[in-house]
Amino acid sequence: MAGKLYLVPTPIGNLGDISRRAAETLAAADFVAAEDTRVTVKLLNHLELKKPMAAYHRHNCETAGPAILRRIQEGEDCALVTDAGTPAISDPGEDLVALCAAAGVAVEAIPGPCALTVALSVSGLPTARFTFEGFLPLNKKNRRAQLEGLADEARTMVFYEAPHKLRATLDDLAAVFGPDRPLAVCRELTKLHEEVVRLTIGEAVERYAAQEPRGEFVLVVAGCPARVEAADEDGALARAEQLRREGLSLKQAAALAAEEFGVKKRTLYNQMLEREGT
Ligand code: SAM
Repeated sequence: MAGKLYLVPTPIGNLGDISRRAAETLAAADFVAAEDTRVTVKLLNHLELKKPMAAYHRHNCETAGPAILRRIQEGEDCALVTDAGTPAISDPGEDLVALCAAAGVAVEAIPGPCALTVALSVSGLPTARFTFEGFLPLNKKNRRAQLEGLADEARTMVFYEAPHKLRATLDDLAAVFGPDRPLAVCRELTKLHEEVVRLTIGEAVERYAAQEPRGEFVLVVAGCPARVEAADEDGALARAEQLRREGLSLKQAAALAAEEFGVKKRTLYNQMLEREGT
């Protein structure tokens, strides 16, 4: 009978965050597939566990993945861990999960630490709807293009970022979203020097121009409320023009459309005046 692939989240800083179930799963697995076996051995030592390990990372996943799948199909249970956090979130674990799923092998995820959810929950920004963007492309042109695709995004956006790329990314965020957009910079979460700074993108650019970015970062960026207002203004204008065609006076049309769309009567009236050239 085939074994199972267990996705075992590990602490993103604080070793106390390993759950009892995660530890039990590691203890029960036949082998542990790890991103960096040197990192994982420290965790296993902390848990007083000795396990056979297999390396599984982005440089060997094409060959290591099928080899791990074969072992599971032959009956072994594998616990997949990454250096920190939840396997398959912005790491090659996603390929192993896809491989196992396609082969009909059972995959079980143990819930646990993930930098994305820790940052989002502490950000102070709306969490009901969000989009996880992972790492932005390294190449400046591609990074800009990806951000420009998010220019109208109304949901809160979450980005992973490495310290050496932080300044360039903040500059691009300011260029695309504007310097006034609220942002939470979440650094070294759950670690000794944990820091959550809630500020605007422009303020973050200044802050990290003056201080060298160090540690691990998650950026949580507010969505785009301005575009929603703009859409309402466009709607109000279209509605007012329709009312004009139906015979209402300029003043009446502006007042009615402004009320329906929740925009300022005076602004709408002036826009219509300008359009009609009166
Ligand atoms: N699978 C992991 C997870 O569940 O969060 C993420 C892996 S990804 C390769 C590593 C990135 O996660 C880092 O570059 C950083 O953006 C973020 N990260 C991980 N640990 C963090 C921490 N303690 N504080 C802030 N960000 C962290």
